[in-house]
Amino acid sequence: MRPQKLTMSRGKRVLSDYGSRQDEYAEYNRMRWKYDREAKAFYNSKEWKALSRLVLLENDYVCEYCGDEATMSDHVIPLKADWNRRLDRSNLKASCKRCNDKRAILYRNNLL
Ligand SMILES: [Zn+2]
Repeated sequence: MRPQKLTMSRGKRVLSDYGSRQDEYAEYNRMRWKYDREAKAFYNSKEWKALSRLVLLENDYVCEYCGDEATMSDHVIPLKADWNRRLDRSNLKASCKRCNDKRAILYRNNLL
């Protein structure tokens, strides 16, 4: 038998063995790594760079959230939430770094 420990699962105490938790983390890390790699490749792509520049030009480099100088474009529906809308012009807004970072944090905390 594998070593076991008490853990919480959906609000209940359950016995789970160390092995299965490790398997879960391994899978989670593998998926996260795969996503990060794809996201990085996307942000480096010609298509993204051209579209991002277009969004900034169309908005005269003004952040659509706060009115400061925009330096990047932001995915209104985050890349992570809908990969298919990564090059959808209507899903992009000119953004300053501060607003972009703020929105990333909001999204991470399920507040967006
Ligand atoms: Zn801003």
